[in-house]
Amino acid sequence: MVSWVGAADNVCMLGRARGGAPLRRLRFTLPRRPAYHPARAKRAGNPAGCATDRTGVQDNSVPILIVGGGPVGLALAGDLGWRGIRCLLIEQSDGSIYQPRMDLVGIRTMEFCRRWGLVAAVEASPYPRDYPQDNVYLTSLAGYELGRERFPGIGQASPPPESPQRRERCPQNMFDPILREFASAQENVTMRYRTRLVSFMQDDGSVIAQVENADTGRREEISAGTIVGCDGARSLVRETLGIRMLGNPAVTYTTNVIFRCPDLLSLHDKGKAYRHIFIGPEGTWSTIVAINGGDQWRFSIIGGAAQRQYTTEEIRAAIRRAVGRDFDFEILSILPWVRRELVAETYRNGRGFIAGDAAHAMSPTGGFGMNTGIGDAVDLSWKLAATIEGWGGERLLDSYTTERQPVGARNVAEAGANLRRMLSVGAHPEIADDTPQGVATRAKVGGAFTEMMRREWFTLGIHLGYRYEGSPICWPDGSSAPADEARSYVPTARPGHRAPHAWLADGRSTLDLFGRGFALLGFGATAGDAAALLDAARTRRVPIEFISLAEPQVAALYQRRFVLVRPDGHVAWRDDRMPEKPLHVIDVVRGAADGTDAAAWRETANDCKLN
Ligand SMILES: Cc1cc2nc3c(=O)[nH]c(=O)nc-3n(C[C@H](O)[C@H](O)[C@H](O)COP(=O)(O)OP(=O)(O)OC[C@H]3O[C@@H](n4cnc5c(N)ncnc54)[C@H](O)[C@@H]3O)c2cc1C
Repeated sequence: MVSWVGAADNVCMLGRARGGAPLRRLRFTLPRRPAYHPARAKRAGNPAGCATDRTGVQDNSVPILIVGGGPVGLALAGDLGWRGIRCLLIEQSDGSIYQPRMDLVGIRTMEFCRRWGLVAAVEASPYPRDYPQDNVYLTSLAGYELGRERFPGIGQASPPPESPQRRERCPQNMFDPILREFASAQENVTMRYRTRLVSFMQDDGSVIAQVENADTGRREEISAGTIVGCDGARSLVRETLGIRMLGNPAVTYTTNVIFRCPDLLSLHDKGKAYRHIFIGPEGTWSTIVAINGGDQWRFSIIGGAAQRQYTTEEIRAAIRRAVGRDFDFEILSILPWVRRELVAETYRNGRGFIAGDAAHAMSPTGGFGMNTGIGDAVDLSWKLAATIEGWGGERLLDSYTTERQPVGARNVAEAGANLRRMLSVGAHPEIADDTPQGVATRAKVGGAFTEMMRREWFTLGIHLGYRYEGSPICWPDGSSAPADEARSYVPTARPGHRAPHAWLADGRSTLDLFGRGFALLGFGATAGDAAALLDAARTRRVPIEFISLAEPQVAALYQRRFVLVRPDGHVAWRDDRMPEKPLHVIDVVRGAADGTDAAAWRETANDCKLN
């Protein structure tokens, strides 16, 4: 039986798309129970300021309410729990994945998985690790091959020198359960499935949310200190917060189809490949992806700006056209969706935040969507933790937008440019002809396409090279930034950048040093040499650890004698000497003060805008 999937939230269903969301405050009866109150919760003996326990939300009061249990909500819940912060995640579905969307777990996300102890689980996921990851361009599977970018199976690829990890192929129906297991293993995380956010409102003191049990229809109110909308592209949280989306709300009307055909490889001579891009006389028109490296395939009719709905028979004919012959197959699901290029104008309004597809909707070309969202989650998580624990300053949470919104805009733009490159082939009526002109056209189009598409396949710069230029909580050191390029990544410990990876003498990566609190690296220095900054941090109750490193190649990479790395693994400050005003540096990096230098840096930072 074919199922027409109707609940994809990282994409918008036909005819149900929402563009910029107007401010709408949804009203309902205020709660009779007391609203969430951190000080009261602390007095009740809960250091995380939470009046809940793991068995449920007894008094329906939590510090952080996460709406949405997709990969981003799960990552946020898991990271908060890993930091010892209590949170409640609600998800309207039962967590089943009917049509897996993402399958590329990027290298930075894998670095976070390393921090969370999830690498072995990802590597053990059922996607066959010897399955070649080639991208092939062709007229049809049984037709002509125009070009190919070869990639080995994921298990045969080595991590690049810039990272201890490699990117992974782990489709959403395999990756979400790993994140779910991670989140549910955290003592401080409570997850409720089949629970839907109906509405919420906020005031100076708290957020009051109304939620509904999807099975019984029973409604109840939850009081929270903060609400985070990880509720996908049609985010109710974003809409209620009145946050507008900027960009193009309808780039293409695309149709994705999962079909089963265990024998597909025997129907053609192209061998195993991950992605097939089909170029017909009219140009690029569809793709087939090896979604589980076995019997299931995702076919996409890319479509265009005009809305178009296909019958099941039309879809069957299109699949046969892509394969180039008649054959037996079973359609498992059909998902019409709208490809968007949008980023939220802000990621925060008061006590409400958005992350993942709720904050940015991008073309899947490149595989950046979830990976960008997990970056949001990691940036927001430690800031929420710092605020709840009392050492985060008033400006800390605002820096979430300052840091992440430009990254969202950058990745939306790059993903859209990837799409446009893929569609730029144009019409070549003779491309499939068995004539000398057909041969010449295939050689010309195939060569140019192969070269052009490399930008989408080699994206280390996108995944590792994002930086928080002009961030109010990073202290500039006057050095200039390396170019921000999609393909190449220049490792640097310049403030605002990801602290780079290098192997240590004991076999660990520098990345293994970062995570829960601040890490102050001292190259050829002792804790006594760093006493000024360590004392300042302790004065402000900022968790900090001093780590003395002797490896000369790591010192050369980090370029300064002292480097202060944040809990998310980004550099906050570096210098060869202790600062003259160490308390001021600590106050800036914890979001409690504005540094004059930092403010000047911000003014000169480039604005990141959607093209
Ligand atoms: C074909 C395709 C391929 C892709 N490939 C990749 C890839 O390889 N790599 C990559 O990084 N990205 C990829 N993406 C993008 C990726 O799938 C999304 O970016 C990612 O799923 C977003 O995760 P999310 O958690 O933000 O949102 P979602 O996955 O949409 O999850 C949102 C969740 O919120 C829940 N929810 C919504 N409203 C409510 C409510 N009111 N109450 C309770 N729960 C609610 C929904 O049920 C849903 O589970 C791809 C996308 C597509 C379409």
